[in-house]
Amino acid sequence: MRIEENNVNIDSSFALEVQKRSGENVFLCYQCRKCASGCPLREMMDSSPTEFMRFVQLGMKDKAMTDSTVWRCTSCQTCTTRCPQGIDIAHVIDTVKMMAQDERIKVDSKNVKAFNVIWMNMLKHMGRIYELGLVALLNMAMKQPLKGAELAVEMVKKGKLKFIPTIKRSASMRRMFKRAKGLK
Ligand code: SF4
Ligand code: SF4
Repeated sequence: MRIEENNVNIDSSFALEVQKRSGENVFLCYQCRKCASGCPLREMMDSSPTEFMRFVQLGMKDKAMTDSTVWRCTSCQTCTTRCPQGIDIAHVIDTVKMMAQDERIKVDSKNVKAFNVIWMNMLKHMGRIYELGLVALLNMAMKQPLKGAELAVEMVKKGKLKFIPTIKRSASMRRMFKRAKGLK
């Protein structure tokens, strides 16, 4: 993506705030792109994790907080494990997401916000993600209940998607969410 001159405000206060809240120094990133090349969600994001790190370094707070990267990242940790600088990129992205929520930043796409809310609630109450339920709830939020239904049926038949959800350690996950809320 092209960064327009008037979008750049080199101000380290945002990066320092992210560092304070996440414990990660974003200035250690030297843009090697290893995180971007491993991200499974890259195609669905406005910017790669590498670009995202750059936005934070440059103090492009608005861009970082409204970019779909921050809302579509599933915290899978692939980027984190690939970073030669040992930066927990997934945690940096999560931190910016929390900061955006604290500041009640409006996101252009309602679907992105809906995805995030459904994902987090599923994790909180079921202890893991139930993919079929996630797609069904997202479809309902998008008012397209039958979107991808044929594909989902085929995937269930082939055992790629589970029809019955598995609930694991949901009580401990709820406690974790409660503790995290208390740390704010
Ligand atoms: S892998 Fe680490 S150093 Fe490389 S671009 Fe990503 S965050 Fe920066
Ligand atoms: S944690 Fe997020 S940004 Fe990193 S690889 Fe996974 S989806 Fe991509």
